Parts: sequence; C-alpha cells; structure tokens
Amino acid sequence: MEALTSLRSEIDLLDRELIRLFAKRLALVSQVGQVKHRNGLPIYAPQREQEMLQARRREAEKMGVPPDLIEDVLRRLMRESYASENRFGFKKVNPHIQKIVIVGGKGKLGGLFAHYLNASGYFVETLDIDDWKRADAILANAEAVIVSVPISVTLETIERLKPYLTENMLLADLTSVKRTPLAKMLEVHRGAVVGLHPMFGPDIAGMAKQVVVCCDGRFSERYAWLLEQIQIWGAKIYTVTADEHDHSMTYIQALRHFATFANGLHLSRQPIKLAGLLALSSPIYRLELAMIGRLFAQDAALYADIIADKPENLTVMESLQQTYKEALVFFENGDKAGFIQAFNQVKAWFGEYSEQFLKESRQLLQQANDFRHHSS
Ligand code: NAD
Repeated sequence: MEALTSLRSEIDLLDRELIRLFAKRLALVSQVGQVKHRNGLPIYAPQREQEMLQARRREAEKMGVPPDLIEDVLRRLMRESYASENRFGFKKVNPHIQKIVIVGGKGKLGGLFAHYLNASGYFVETLDIDDWKRADAILANAEAVIVSVPISVTLETIERLKPYLTENMLLADLTSVKRTPLAKMLEVHRGAVVGLHPMFGPDIAGMAKQVVVCCDGRFSERYAWLLEQIQIWGAKIYTVTADEHDHSMTYIQALRHFATFANGLHLSRQPIKLAGLLALSSPIYRLELAMIGRLFAQDAALYADIIADKPENLTVMESLQQTYKEALVFFENGDKAGFIQAFNQVKAWFGEYSEQFLKESRQLLQQANDFRHHSS
C-alpha cells in the first residue's frame, strides 16, 4: 500500500507538471492566434497540422511512447487551440462592407453567423420576425443580406425582401436545402446571389475544419470576400450545384434523420428502460444511443422540414423500408447463407472505406468508453 501511495504521489506531481506545460502551450497558441488575426491567416492550417503530428509520432515512437497516444493528446490540444484562437477575433476581409443584415439573426444559426461576423469587425443588424415594420431602416445601405429563417418560411421571406433589395447588395442564405431558396433569390434579386449551407449546428466549439457548402447564384466575384471570410474562420468551402447539394442531402440529412427518428420512435415503444440499457451497453451501443438521443434534443420542426423537403426523400425512405423487409426475410427463412452473401456484397461496396471506418470508429468507441463512469 505504501509503495502504491508513493507511486501515486509521483504521478500526481507529473500530472501537475503536465498541466503547467499545457498552460504554457495554450499561452503560445494564444500568441499564434494574435499573429493570425493581424495577418488574416486561416485558423486551420492543414499542412502544418499534418506535418506536426507526423513529427511528434516519430519522436514518441523513439521514446517508447505509443504514437497513437501522442496523436490523441495533440489532436485534443489542437481542438482547444482552435477554439482559443477565436478569442482575438478575425481579420475583416472586406473593409468596404459597412453593414450586413441577417434575416432571422436572433435564431440559432443566424446568431452564430452574427457572432462570427461581429468578431471579424463587421457591423451586423438583425431583421427578425417582429422587425418587419422597421425593415426599411434596417435594410437601408446594407451591402449584404443573409437569410437564416426556418425552412418552411424561407421562400416567402425571400419574396418579402424584394422591395428592399438594391442591385449592389449581396443576397445569401444559410438554408439546409438549396434548390428552391436559390431559385427564389435569383428570381427576386438582380445583384449577386449565393446559397450557403453550413454543415454544422449552432453548438460547435469553433468553425475550424467544419464544412460550408456553396452554391453559386450570380456574380461570384462579388461574394468571394464572404467565402474567404468563412475560410479564415477555419471552415472548408465545397462548391457544388444546388441540385448536387440537394441530392446528397437526401442521404446525409433526410434519410439519416428519418432512420434516427424511426429508431427513437421504435425504442420508445419497447418494454425497456433507458437507464437499464445504458448500464449494460457496449461502447458502440452507447454511442448509437447518443446519436439517436441527440436528435430529440433538437428542433423537431427543422427535422420535419428537412425530411419532407422533396419527393426524392420520400422515395429513398420507402426504399429503406423495402430493404428492412428484404433483410428480415433472411431471418424469417433461416437463410444464413443468403445473409452472408448480402453482407459480403455490402462489404465489397464499402471497399477500403470499410477498414478506414473500422479504425476511425475504434477511436470514437474508446472515447465513448473513457466517458463511462461506474460507481464503485
Ligand atoms: P431558429 O428557429 O433558431 O431561427 C430562425 C429565426 O428566424 C428565429 O429567430 C425566428 O424568429 C426568425 N424568423 C422566423 N420567421 C421569420 C420571418 N418571417 N422574418 C424574419 N425572421 C423570422 O432556426 P435555425 O436552427 O437557426 O435555422 C435557421 C436556418 O438555418 C434554417 O434555414 C436551417 O435550415 C438552417 N440551418 C440550421 C442548422 C441547425 O443546426 N440549426 C444547420 C444548418 C443550417
């Protein structure tokens, strides 16, 4: 027992030393943040990150420390660093912009963009649901108008903006669907138009490494500054057509949200208690429950709108139902060979991603297990 106590105090001392080193590192990172802010450099520097991780992995290996351990720790530290680099604000890419109006700016995503634009030195005004009587004054002299209202009122809101828009204004939106809002923006406005879809929710720690999808409307040279600004915040811009975007979202959003909703609905009707399942769960089941449960902590109307967006979504959801039925037949008929054959077909379809996903998910599972707390 004495030996254990002495070893534990040594570990405590080392942990304190680690905290001191972390504090020192965070202070240095904070200086990096200031330099990046002054020079308008993006928060996320992929090449520097990659090279640094590779070098530390090699050094760790030489010292008998598992490289994966060092990579884990450094990645976690870097995530913290990206968030702390935000504190200094960002360079204002377009100093000529006097005013940006966010329609729906009191909402979750509009509020997030208002925060980032403010932190980059832009003057941002909000036009929310109760502000339309002052719309003239709010929109006067705005150089950019960003629409971020619930999907169900997006088209009518864009239409409502029509009398206030002047040709020199940039009209953009952040809607999770792109084809109809973009077409509506092009219809009501003769100036620059761009459709954006941030592929993240309002609860992100920072924009580093996040994705923003961009669908060109008109006069891309007039909104290039906004894309550059978003990249300085750390996000990656992917430009696709609105049709390509909406087609991909059938799977990335509609199908996934639908399947998650159906899973939650099904579970809630089973004779089980969540606490009991959690106590016995494997890390992967815990993670799966977390992914399902997380949906129900969010906005039901947003998900309803995303799932119901277009007929293609319903077709794919129906085909999921059909696949469930077909998969069930293997087990109704005791057809183990048929199941294995289908399994291998899917495995071939995933190809090398299958191995990559195994590796990635292993790390997630270990993390899920780290968060587990058994009372003694
Ligand atoms: P939200 O409900 O939090 O915010 C919407 C805001 O719009 C509210 O402040 C509301 O008062 C305002 N509003 C409603 N009707 C209005 C009107 N007629 N005129 C002016 N303002 C009006 O919703 P949100 O989650 O911020 O979503 C906004 C947009 O962002 C949606 O198009 C959504 O598809 C998109 N989006 C959301 C997320 C997310 O995770 N929340 C992610 C990506 C994209």
